[in-house]
Amino acid sequence: MLRLQLRKACAMSDHKANYPHEFVKFLNACPTPYHAVHEIKKHFDEYGFKELSERHSWDGVLTRGGGFYVTRNDSSILAFTVGCQWAPGNPIAITGAHTDSPVLKIKPVSKRSSEGYAQVGVECYGGGIWHSWFDADLSIAGRVMVKDQKTSNVRSMLVDLKQPLLKIPTLAIHLDRDVNQKFEFDRENQLLPVAGLESQSSESSKSCEQAAPQEGEFFSIKAVVERHHRDLVDLVAEELGIEVTQIEDFELTLYDHKPACLGGLHREFVFSGRLDNLTSCFTSMHGLTEALKTGLEKECGIRMMVCFDHEEIGSSSAQGADSNFLPAILERILRFPAISDKSGSQHDSSLQMSVARSFFLSSDVAHAVHPNYANKYESKHKPAIGQGPVIKVNANQRYMTNSPGLVLVKHIAERAKVPLQLFVVANNSPCGSTIGPIIASKTGIKTLDLGNPILSMHSIRETGGSDDLEWQIKLFCEFFETYSTYESKVYEPST
Ligand SMILES: [Zn+2]
Repeated sequence: MLRLQLRKACAMSDHKANYPHEFVKFLNACPTPYHAVHEIKKHFDEYGFKELSERHSWDGVLTRGGGFYVTRNDSSILAFTVGCQWAPGNPIAITGAHTDSPVLKIKPVSKRSSEGYAQVGVECYGGGIWHSWFDADLSIAGRVMVKDQKTSNVRSMLVDLKQPLLKIPTLAIHLDRDVNQKFEFDRENQLLPVAGLESQSSESSKSCEQAAPQEGEFFSIKAVVERHHRDLVDLVAEELGIEVTQIEDFELTLYDHKPACLGGLHREFVFSGRLDNLTSCFTSMHGLTEALKTGLEKECGIRMMVCFDHEEIGSSSAQGADSNFLPAILERILRFPAISDKSGSQHDSSLQMSVARSFFLSSDVAHAVHPNYANKYESKHKPAIGQGPVIKVNANQRYMTNSPGLVLVKHIAERAKVPLQLFVVANNSPCGSTIGPIIASKTGIKTLDLGNPILSMHSIRETGGSDDLEWQIKLFCEFFETYSTYESKVYEPST
């Protein structure tokens, strides 16, 4: 049945996709990692993938020839297909990305006011270029924990207010004549958004009775309406069609209200926030489903894409790349009786054999050369927008690329006719890192770091390339389609 659906999905993907246009839609639908995972799930649902839960048994669901996905915390997702010819010990082709980006998150107690303005306390998440957040029209999105009025059960709901609600105003140049030479600000006190005028607040006219404990009631922490501006909580409740009293808590972040778009004289650019790293989430999800076109009948490996939360803060969480999310799912799949040895016999070492034959393409955006700061780049390694994915190399293992991996990816790219670029950071420059080293050291899986080049990484508004999307999707598709038959040509020692 599932195989049938996957085959039907191949027909769906036969039409030529307009990836830049699709990507802009995806970016605008994904203001937070929760929304990104939701959109990725929707994509795989359309292709007939089945959702698996870590809480339940996978008996009767997990089979050869099927497509599946698992989520954690609704902010990390792992999707995979099992080849019809899968045998224990066979290889797994994996792409990895991250769903999170540097943002301002609303604090647990956010209600502030000053000089007649209503303000919202925010916390810096990740290493953002925070000055780029000044004067942007900011909206709010995230997830809300909602109590069912009848059962008192609590469930999570996604919310996106889609309105320009907040502003972090700069100071007029007349009051700071040096601002064009030096723009400094205090992150706690001056990166504080304005949300309205207190004179317009409905707070005073609304009673907070429902927030106060009635006789015999006990609240461990103050109610949401006491911790945040009532008008903000009202907007959230209204958007979700629920009562304010149903809101138990929320995790809300700010985002640029200006939608993502294509730009440049020839629409060669994508202008948006969160290109780091929704770019790789988008390309790996399309790469995995594009690869279904050739079917899974002859496939002897597993193809997998995983997108983790929390890369921007070091990946240490229950659902980050440094968690057991990937290792636990790998172990669970590879030990699963229905896809273990057809004869029923188990190889004790089959899991380790699979790991040794697998490959992790760690995909995260790369630094495109900046025309006004070209001297910041290593002179022979200046990635250009529109020239294809960038392989990242670092002798100090901030990136995981080595020669065998580079040769493998080079050959895959040549078969797919995808141009590649090389990047190494200058010795006098700091170097970023990715989930690559974390996954490689945690699992022992061979890993290579690559990604599409962008400008203004970690700004509220980054710039990427329209054509690079299709290059990367083609590369990932070829990787998924051919890795299991090709890997031994590079990695099996010759005798
Ligand atoms: Zn990144």
